[in-house]
Amino acid sequence: MGLAQLAENERTSVLNGHSLSPAKHGKISLLAHQLCVQIKVIDRKAFKLPFRKSANPQWVCPTCSKGVLKIEADSFRFEETRDSKRAHSHEAWDPEWIDYVYSCSLICSNDNCKEMVSSSGEGFVVMDYYYDEQGIPEQEWETYFRPKYFFPHLKLFQYPPDITEQVAKELDASFELFFCSPSSAANHVRISLENLLTALKIKRFNTKAKRRLYLNLHQRIELLPKKHENLQELLLAIKWLGNAGSHSTQSITKDDVMDAYEIMDEVLGVVFPQQKRSARSIAKEINKKKGPRKRKR
Ligand SMILES: [Zn+2]
Repeated sequence: MGLAQLAENERTSVLNGHSLSPAKHGKISLLAHQLCVQIKVIDRKAFKLPFRKSANPQWVCPTCSKGVLKIEADSFRFEETRDSKRAHSHEAWDPEWIDYVYSCSLICSNDNCKEMVSSSGEGFVVMDYYYDEQGIPEQEWETYFRPKYFFPHLKLFQYPPDITEQVAKELDASFELFFCSPSSAANHVRISLENLLTALKIKRFNTKAKRRLYLNLHQRIELLPKKHENLQELLLAIKWLGNAGSHSTQSITKDDVMDAYEIMDEVLGVVFPQQKRSARSIAKEINKKKGPRKRKR
């Protein structure tokens, strides 16, 4: 089984177990597909495909966002798990039964940064099929690794620097969990959306007979002011993905979480446009404050 086939099988098998109704899932996928045409697309292969020790994906450095992370060759260690070792004695044993654990250090390629990132995860062996230079089919066992953790965590997309701390905190929590628990990661995107609505001053509850009646996320999204009305459809899609992530019966894949990130990236770009401030407007702010400018975070 080649790498592309492996990735496709993985996606298909998870989707087959997806318990969102086909109509609902189709709707979200269609929306995500339409969005991909307009919005910045995440390098999905780098975040979801397994990698070989000799060729790790182009993971961007989480600290400088300029360099890419390279595995420090001497640091890469991998071992078979206990159960994997024990399984060798089984008469039907096959290399595809092998399970590894790995750990390694990565270093940023940017000479001005050289950040160190540690990673760990799992490994496995599959048969790769290919054609040699004469066009003759060949096959060989190949070992692949799949990350579960990075520290410091990778940034799956670059959010604007001036978003509120509460929104950023939840997105960072999501990035931390992306590789080991996509459903938890989707749930944190949903919480970041709740916090975004609060930052936009959308009310959280109504008061009736001195009692607070809390609004659900759907109701809050519908309260968006006219200037952000065009975001409703995007925000509802994040809500559906977050809902699926909160229910243990519903499977969420890395692709689903990346759908949520791409939609959130678009939303934050609209709500917090990165305008270039002129020196004059910055000076005006400093003079008004008679001191350093107030930062949101
Ligand atoms: Zn760096």
